[in-house]
Amino acid sequence: MKRNIAIVGAGFSGAVIANQLASAGHQVEVFESRNHVAGNCYSERDSETGVMVHLYGPHIFHTDIERAWEFVNRYAEFKPYVNRVKAITNNRVFTLPINLLTINQFFGKTMRPAEAQQFLASLGDKSIENPTTFEEQALRFVGRELYEAFFKTYTVKQWGLQPSELPASILKRLPVRFNYDDNYFSHKYQGMPAEGYTALVENILAVPGVTVHLNTMFDPALKSDYDHVFYSGPIDAWFKHAEGRLPYRTLDFETFRDSGDYQGNAVINYCDDAKPYTRITEHKHFSPWESHERTVCYMEYSRQCGETDIPYYPIRLARDKQQLEKYVNLARKESNVTFVGRLGTYRYLDMDVTINEALITADKFLEAASSKARMPAFTIDPLA
Ligand code: UDP
Repeated sequence: MKRNIAIVGAGFSGAVIANQLASAGHQVEVFESRNHVAGNCYSERDSETGVMVHLYGPHIFHTDIERAWEFVNRYAEFKPYVNRVKAITNNRVFTLPINLLTINQFFGKTMRPAEAQQFLASLGDKSIENPTTFEEQALRFVGRELYEAFFKTYTVKQWGLQPSELPASILKRLPVRFNYDDNYFSHKYQGMPAEGYTALVENILAVPGVTVHLNTMFDPALKSDYDHVFYSGPIDAWFKHAEGRLPYRTLDFETFRDSGDYQGNAVINYCDDAKPYTRITEHKHFSPWESHERTVCYMEYSRQCGETDIPYYPIRLARDKQQLEKYVNLARKESNVTFVGRLGTYRYLDMDVTINEALITADKFLEAASSKARMPAFTIDPLA
């Protein structure tokens, strides 16, 4: 039976679910409060330089998930792109993630892999048996000098919190390598959509049966007009912040343009407090197959997200998770609404995971629709 579905948000979560449900014959309306699709992955050509810019900060597609990679390649041509991040600290340039070159240059040595591994182990604080905080994780595995040079100040700039207050999971995103591999990511697939993320999301949404309403807030009171709602907005906003606002970090970008090549790389991190920004992104380097005379760069600043700001990073400290739990309990009492994505589940999600979870959510809905089972409020546990 054909269902009328409302999807709130036209980022990856909303677009992928819309695509799958409309392809299965359901009628889908997508409500997007901004004037564009693609959420924070949105990219557009800079009118002054012609360079494709990631308006909400750098997005590099990388994944080990075959289904997500296969899915995005159906809707865009992906060009090979490998993210190699440089870091400036104490007036010197290094490669990230921490690898054999970083270690040898930083300590003025010429160690081979096994030597460097032993050396780093000797620097690590072995009294920390089970690191739970970001700081403990860093001190245990890379020692104080590398921690202070690369992580401590950057993390305070990024999160507005001391690394001793943050969970180890944030640092675990970054590998430490004992070879000269400076690929920022360890995943099997990595690339950049040739015509940008906006075109990719537009193509995902271009399925008969999908109608997109831009500049349109969805009022939860309209829920009963639909058989089911998939909500990828902030979970606390659905409940009118009844349990208070979940905290996020937001980003500000200061744009500047120049001729030629400003920094020679897409992303350079500024890891000490010589600069107030966390990193500078030079967007033309995300499209090495194009050529542009001029260049456009974003200096990136992170700060606490206010009521009218765009939320980026969920913070998820222990107290935030307690508040989240209250919203999760409210959500589980709602009928015919499923909460999805980074904002709907208040998790720090990469694009590939978001897409994969959206595909799984759509599968569950299609199964539930055919067996007349109840569709749950969450298809993954946001508290896990
Ligand atoms: N980080 C850091 N120094 C760096 C890069 C990252 O201290 O030069 C820390 C920072 O706390 C960051 C975390 O490591 O939030 C994870 O880094 P990742 O690059 O995954 O963050 P993303 O920019 O993708 O959110």
